[in-house]
Amino acid sequence: MVESLGRVRHELRDPVNAIVSYSQLLLAEAERGNLQEVVPDLQRIHAAGKELLSAVAELLSPEIAAYGDVELNALGDALEARLGEPLRTIGEQCERLIVQADSTGRSAAAADLRHVQTAAQRLTALLATIATRLTPRPAVEPAAESEGPPAPARPAPPVTGDTPTATSEATPAQPRAAHLLVVDDQAVSRVVLHRALTHEGYRVTEARHGREALELVAGEHFDLVLLDLLMPDGGGLEVVQRLRQEHAATDLPVVVVTAIDDSAEIVEALNAGANDYVAKPVDMPVALARIRTQLALKDLVTALEEANRRLADLSIHDALTELPNRRCFDETLDKEWKRGTRDRTPLAVIMMDIDHFKSYNDSYGHEAGDEVLRQVAAAMSQEVRRPADLLARYGGEEFVAVLPTTPVEGAALVAERLRVAVAAPEVRHTGRAEADHVTLSLGVATAVPTLESAPTVLVELADKALYRAKEEGRNCVRVHGEERGSTPT
Ligand code: GH3
Ligand code: MG
Ligand code: MG
Repeated sequence: MVESLGRVRHELRDPVNAIVSYSQLLLAEAERGNLQEVVPDLQRIHAAGKELLSAVAELLSPEIAAYGDVELNALGDALEARLGEPLRTIGEQCERLIVQADSTGRSAAAADLRHVQTAAQRLTALLATIATRLTPRPAVEPAAESEGPPAPARPAPPVTGDTPTATSEATPAQPRAAHLLVVDDQAVSRVVLHRALTHEGYRVTEARHGREALELVAGEHFDLVLLDLLMPDGGGLEVVQRLRQEHAATDLPVVVVTAIDDSAEIVEALNAGANDYVAKPVDMPVALARIRTQLALKDLVTALEEANRRLADLSIHDALTELPNRRCFDETLDKEWKRGTRDRTPLAVIMMDIDHFKSYNDSYGHEAGDEVLRQVAAAMSQEVRRPADLLARYGGEEFVAVLPTTPVEGAALVAERLRVAVAAPEVRHTGRAEADHVTLSLGVATAVPTLESAPTVLVELADKALYRAKEEGRNCVRVHGEERGSTPT
C-alpha cells in the first residue's frame, strides 16, 4: 500500500518537476532578456508549479503510512481540489504565452512553454487515474509506468540536448571552465541543468544513467558530478560509492539531487560519500551556490596540497642552487651509513670548496658570487649520475657528494670529473678574465661503515683531504689515505 503510494508520488512529481524547472528557466531568461511583458505570466506559472509541488508533498507525504479505503477516496478528491486550480492557471498562461511567442518569432521560448504545457496535461491525465490506482482492490495499474499519460493534444518538439554525451563549451571568459557531469535519466532535467550551468560559464557533459556516468568519468576529467538519485534503476547510491573508490571527495565532488522529503536518502547519499545535495525540482540559485562552494573547496585543497609539496621541497632544498641542502645531506649520510653497515660496501664522501671565492665576491659583488654558485652547482649536477648519489650544498661556497657503494678509485674519478666540470672555462665564461679562475678544491674519503663508528668521521677525513688540496695549490683532488703513500681505506 505504502509502496504504491510512493510510486504515485514519484510519478506525479515527474511532471511537476518539469513545470517548475522550465518555468524557472524561462523566467530567468525573460528577466535577463528584459522581456518585462511576459515576466508576470511566467511568475504565475512558476508559482502555480510550486503550489503543485507542495500539494503533492503534503498530500502524499511518506509519513502517511496507513490509508483506509475511505481516506483513499478522500485523498483522490483532495488531490483534485488542490491541483486543479494551479493546473488550470498553468494551462491558460501557457496557451497565451505560446501564441505570443509564436507570433513574435521566439520559437525557443515557445518550445519550452510547450514542455510546461505537456507536463501539465500529463499531470491532469495522471490525476484522473489516481483514485483507482490507490484503492487496494481492484489493483489496477496503468499500462505503462513512466510514460503512462495519454499523448498530449499538441505534441511537444523533441527535447534538445538529448545526446548521451552532449558537451557544450563555456563562454571563453574564464581561463578554464570547470567541467561538470550532469547525470539524470530525464531529458528535461538534463536540458534545464545543462542550459543553466552553461550560462554560468561551466562546461557541461550529460549522462543518462549511472553506468554511462562511470564510463565518462573513467575516460575524461571532471571537476564535479551532479547526480540525480531519483533514477529508475535506483543505482544512484552505488554510483556515489563507485566514484569514491577512485576519487576522493576533494578531488571529484559529487552533489546529489534527491527528493526533498526523503531525509533517509539524503543521509545515505552523504554517508556513501556525496559532498552535498540539492532537492528536486532543482532550485537553480541554490544548486549553483552549492556547486560553487564545492568547486571552491576543491580549489582550496589543491592549493593547500601544492603549498605543502613546495614546503616539503623547501625543507630539503637549498633555495639558491636548488641542490639538496645540508639537512638532506645529513639525513642521507646517516641512512647510507646504516645501509653500508648491513651491506658492508664502501661509502664515499667528497668535500668541495670554491677557491679564492672571497676575492671573487669582493671584485664582482655578492650577487655575481651567487650566480657563480648556481652555475657551479649546475655544472656539478651533470657529473653525479647514479640514482643513489647525492650532491648537496654543504654551506656557503662548500659542496659535498655522498656516493654509496663506491670504492676510493671510483670516488677519486668522480671528484676529478667535478673539478674539470667547474674549471672548464666554457662552463662559466662570464666575459671577464678573472671569472676563469673560479676553480674547486676537493677532498675524498671512503670507508666501509661499521656500527662502532659514526659517519661524521668520514666527513672529517674528507675535510682533511680538502685542506690538503688547498695547501698543495688548489684546483686539485686529494684523497684521504693517499698522503705519505699509505694504503687507502
Ligand atoms: P679558499 O680558496 O681558501 O677557499 O678561499 P676562499 O676565499 O674561498 O675562502 P673563505 O672561506 O675565506 O671565503 C669563503 C667566501 O665565500 C666568503 C664569502 O665571500 C663567499 N661565500 C660564502 N657563501 C656565499 C654565498 O652564499 N654567496 C656568495 N656570493 N658568496 C659566498
Ligand atoms: Mg670555505
Ligand atoms: Mg673557498
